[in-house]
Amino acid sequence: MSKEELETLPITRSEFSTLEIFKNVSFESLAGYLLGCKTILAQPGDLLIDPEHPIRRLIVVLDGMLEVKLTSQGGNFSDTISPGHCAGEMSIFDNIKPSACVYAKEPSHLLIIDATTALAMIHASHDLCLNFLHILSQRIRNNNKVVCEEEYHIRCIEESSKVDALTGLHNRRWLEEMYAREMSRSNAGNFRLSAFMLDIDHFKHVNDTYGHLAGDQVLMSVAQSIVKSLRPSDMPVRYGGEEFTVFLPGTSTDNAKVIAERMRKNVERMQIVLPSGETIQVTVSIGFTERVDNDSVRSIIERADQALYHAKENGRNRVCMNLGQDDMFLF
Ligand code: GH3
Ligand code: MG
Ligand code: MG
Repeated sequence: MSKEELETLPITRSEFSTLEIFKNVSFESLAGYLLGCKTILAQPGDLLIDPEHPIRRLIVVLDGMLEVKLTSQGGNFSDTISPGHCAGEMSIFDNIKPSACVYAKEPSHLLIIDATTALAMIHASHDLCLNFLHILSQRIRNNNKVVCEEEYHIRCIEESSKVDALTGLHNRRWLEEMYAREMSRSNAGNFRLSAFMLDIDHFKHVNDTYGHLAGDQVLMSVAQSIVKSLRPSDMPVRYGGEEFTVFLPGTSTDNAKVIAERMRKNVERMQIVLPSGETIQVTVSIGFTERVDNDSVRSIIERADQALYHAKENGRNRVCMNLGQDDMFLF
């Protein structure tokens, strides 16, 4: 290549050597191809890659800054492309609509290589081919990372939607899912499960006397006390307001009775320190029942709730068992 031709190239040898895509590539091997390329000066906001109007070309940033915005499916991913790096490399190999928009973020000096020239350059230089592969694999890795982070984020949101923010216990939605899971993995015919419905006695009085924050503290303390009385396989849930449900897999009514009574006593003994520094004690009433064939979460809870009502009617701070058909046993 003559000296004059070299001077008419869109980029100099020293610029060439700073570009990621041309790393380890000999300037001479591609100088002939560069003759047919051009540089442009993009202004901030100029749309360079537009999913609606795809153009197959490689855009190499010589100076300035580009911004990538992933717009599909409401995603809000964005990234920047700094000098030395490029955009549009996938368009060289396929004709698929790009999934991102690329804008100039600053006044940017760009080298534009159309797809035909880029492919011819790749044929001419193994090193350039390696650089393309390297850049594409980096893109895949980055995309995988974004996908994994998104998935993790979605899982966290899903999980938090099943947790009660005040007590940290799970909620009814979680209980429905766990019950369905237990049923599907066990032989439902032989699967024993007891269920408690627990309600704080005269809780309105706590709120009215000590304030709502004190009420919240009582709810947290009772929740902790419930958890302490259980095994890890039991399923305590804040059912709503000041009511809690516990499903106890593999537990017959004989054992459930002992556990419920222990739970009631533990709450009764607890000294709850309120945000004001005052200490109070509360009691709970507990109704419980055992699962029968074809029970749903709702039908189990309904029976436990009837027993709870019976415990309340009979003085509160009590445990009551419902064996069905209004067969109630007070303890
Ligand atoms: P009983 O012994 O019959 O159960 O009487 P109770 O006063 O406990 O029951 P009641 O249903 O009359 O009152 C429940 C109260 O619980 C009313 C409601 O304002 C309060 N509550 C529900 N959720 C919360 C909460 O998250 N925080 C606080 N502080 N209070 C709550
Ligand atoms: Mg109550
Ligand atoms: Mg209640």
